[in-house]
Amino acid sequence: MTSVRSLKTPEELAAAGLIEPQKLGGIRAVADRYAIALTPTVVSLIDSTDPADPIARQFVPDPSELLATPEERADPIGDQAHSPVKGIVHRYPDRVLLKAVHICPVYCRFCFRREMVGPQGDGTLSSEELAAALAYIREHSEIWEVILTGGDPLVLSPRRLAAIMRGLAEIPHVKIVRFHTRVPVVEPDLVDEAMIAALKESRKVVYIALHANHPREMTDAARAACGRLVDAGFPMVSQTVLLRGVNDDPAVLGDLMKAFVETRIKPYYLHHPDFAPGTSHFRLDIAEGQKIVSALRGNISGLCQPTYVLDIPGGHGKAVIGESAVRGDGGCYSVSDFRGGEHAYPPR
Ligand code: SF4
Repeated sequence: MTSVRSLKTPEELAAAGLIEPQKLGGIRAVADRYAIALTPTVVSLIDSTDPADPIARQFVPDPSELLATPEERADPIGDQAHSPVKGIVHRYPDRVLLKAVHICPVYCRFCFRREMVGPQGDGTLSSEELAAALAYIREHSEIWEVILTGGDPLVLSPRRLAAIMRGLAEIPHVKIVRFHTRVPVVEPDLVDEAMIAALKESRKVVYIALHANHPREMTDAARAACGRLVDAGFPMVSQTVLLRGVNDDPAVLGDLMKAFVETRIKPYYLHHPDFAPGTSHFRLDIAEGQKIVSALRGNISGLCQPTYVLDIPGGHGKAVIGESAVRGDGGCYSVSDFRGGEHAYPPR
């Protein structure tokens, strides 16, 4: 499949052969509620002859998004409860989220902020709102790290990115600026010299966290875009959402983690899916996730191991939920190896 611009309506998706005509009515109802966007790069990755294509599953809307379950909620990780001023989420003492923009180049069907992102979402911070958010960061000397997320902050123009970075440059207690983005994968050409120059404006240490969920997303162009960022001096880490029908398989997940490491990206978080509305078809049980993560540990390099985490619903922060290899107490433990063998510790 090829396209020259992003697909944003059910009709455009149908014309591109990405949805069946009989599903159009249901998908129009989804589009009334949640944003749609697939960049030409993403469209080119989809095998439209495969009804279970893992790239299509992430980005092409499905009528099952209108099915809500009782535990789902509009703000699954509790951003609102920790938002002292517009655009800031201050959940942990030493860091804040700065949500400068609520637009993304693609809209992931499982997004945990799906009620806030998109053209109908919370919008982009005005100059006054951005100034108020920066003032909050300046007034809180415990803030060591600012995490730009959203929305995808790398859709901002270099001019606006540079303005934010200059604002952060003036706050001495902020040492680290982290960007969470899908841009290098879904729109790799956006990563150019102008963007890199803007990211350098703060003279802070800048980390880039890349969101990707399937090894096919790590194309040559995506790897080259990440290479430009790493070569410019920005260390990269990854974040992946564990998704049924996309990457709930140790072989697929292992290939993705290896692709990250080959691209000089350290695997960081593997997120258990959140209770975002209309996403039950993506969710799996924590025990299933633990089995997949345990299989990774035995079979691929330690460099390729992400940390499996759950954002506790209600805004209580992240918890590490990988299976523990150690059981027991009172100084006597049993430790399991990656083949399932059990060993006493200390050895008897
Ligand atoms: S890029 Fe991130 S914020 Fe945007 S839709 Fe996807 S998961 Fe949500």
